Amino acid sequence: MHLILMGPQGSGKGTQAGRLAPRLGLVLVATGDLFRRAIAAETALGHQIKAAYDRGELISDDLTVALVEEKLDELSAERALGTGVAGALYDGFPRTRLQADALDAALTRREEAISTVIQIDVPRQTLVNRLAGRRVCTICDTVYHIEFNPPREEGVCDRCGGEVRQRPDDTPAAIEKRLDLYELETAPLLAHYRDRGLMAVVNGVQAIDLVTRDIERAVKGTATTR
Ligand code: ADP
Ligand code: AMP
Repeated sequence: MHLILMGPQGSGKGTQAGRLAPRLGLVLVATGDLFRRAIAAETALGHQIKAAYDRGELISDDLTVALVEEKLDELSAERALGTGVAGALYDGFPRTRLQADALDAALTRREEAISTVIQIDVPRQTLVNRLAGRRVCTICDTVYHIEFNPPREEGVCDRCGGEVRQRPDDTPAAIEKRLDLYELETAPLLAHYRDRGLMAVVNGVQAIDLVTRDIERAVKGTATTR
């Protein structure tokens, strides 16, 4: 199963991906998390992307697709070992038409295909409030909100005890830039997947548990288990 979560920044993809991946037995492919980790670890990739990341710009398709291909190779290796992983859950990828085409090609080469694309629907004015109050664990990527979903102890991750901090790209200017980029580059992909009969839309303006429930229902209703 290859399940894609789509929606603008702040729609709740990371929140839902963190809950759904273990429940559905899927490997999480969250390109934003992978880029943040590269920046924090000061790898060559991290140095290359940091300035664009902080400005809220997209990282080049070449670098992003290479990162996802690496994760797919890891997934194939795990499957070969018989670890029981059912597939992958994509959060924040694909974000451009070129990335969507590259994912199709990579899956076709592995004789697999996208099962379902979930669009998490949230209006823009709600997104800005969510992003301004977002906090993320620097160790395990668990997502919090200072008002809607705070950790039990301020600044400390419930799940792993790691430090919970604001992201460097959750500034007002970078938030506006990322939401504009979503409309321009990523929103057109929704029609692309809808036309292929892969799309299910979920209302993202309801309690986190209810969004999870609706996504699980949509996956059961539409997924072809390839
Ligand atoms: P994305 O990965 O799509 O950018 P996140 O999962 O990081 O979105 O969520 C953005 C912010 O909104 C976080 O602070 C998160 O805690 C909060 N959030 C996520 N889902 C909901 C929801 N259903 N209701 C209220 N706040 C939410
Ligand atoms: P996210 O955590 O999904 O909000 O992503 C944070 C940042 O990582 C984005 O603003 C981009 O700079 C970069 N990024 C994440 N995913 C992609 C992608 N698929 N293509 C290009 N850049 C990405």
